[in-house]
Amino acid sequence: MAKIFCVANQKGGVGKTTSAVNLAAGLASIGQRVLLVDLDPQGNATMGSGVDKRALELTVYDVLLENASVKEAAVHSEQVGYHVLGANRELSGAEIELVSLERRNERLKGALSTVDGDYDFVLIDCPPSLSMLTLNGLCSAHGVIVPMQCEYFALEGLTDLVNTIKQVHANMNPDLQIIGLLRVMFDPRTTLQQQVSDQLKDHFGDKVFDTVIPRNVRLAEAPSYGLPGVVFDPSAKGSKAFITFAKEMVGRIKKMRV
Ligand code: ADP
Ligand code: MG
Repeated sequence: MAKIFCVANQKGGVGKTTSAVNLAAGLASIGQRVLLVDLDPQGNATMGSGVDKRALELTVYDVLLENASVKEAAVHSEQVGYHVLGANRELSGAEIELVSLERRNERLKGALSTVDGDYDFVLIDCPPSLSMLTLNGLCSAHGVIVPMQCEYFALEGLTDLVNTIKQVHANMNPDLQIIGLLRVMFDPRTTLQQQVSDQLKDHFGDKVFDTVIPRNVRLAEAPSYGLPGVVFDPSAKGSKAFITFAKEMVGRIKKMRV
């Protein structure tokens, strides 16, 4: 049975895609079978996994509209060692097309149930909004991984996300829980970041992952080579942190009932 996790935060540029592709690569490197689902029309997770979004014949868009199965649309990216259900600009139209369809928030859930035995982990990279696409992700998932920078406004944005997750949990997906908050782009020399990090731990306790992802230029460079940092430069500090995070995830899900 695959464990399905959304990487979500309605803010843009907070490290969702970087976390999704590097966690996927980290999990693959320790022998886990992984499917990465790109739910962002920007297709950054697709490109960042060595898959050309413009060359894809089938994407998550076709899956949401039930014109293709996950098996048909997912591709294996050899360089990174996991499967990718890709996205491109076409996906931005899905929001409008789904409005009039039944089970519109549960399209992805239904589609993923058909590949349940094929993967250990399904990771869903969400767009920077609390849109119908994100709802499809949240309705499909056992849990949410929230990457965040330890900045003053980070806590403010978190309230909206936590409320959305609570609503989805209450009304649509009783399985859904916050797995954890992942501190990313962390610079321990910045006093404010330390303070926000301490506040996070006070508020959220063990919902804050032990692993901290440092700010690391190799992680930022990797996408221009179409690779996750973990694959592009496994010895970089940021890559090592993501491998540690992958191990932490494996440990966490053993303890939780999903
Ligand atoms: P999102 O998907 O939330 O919009 P991204 O993962 O695309 O965010 O990250 C935003 C930018 O920050 C990208 O340019 C990315 O390369 C960079 N970035 C993300 N994480 C790190 C990190 N740990 N160190 C340095 N740069 C990072
Ligand atoms: Mg992104």
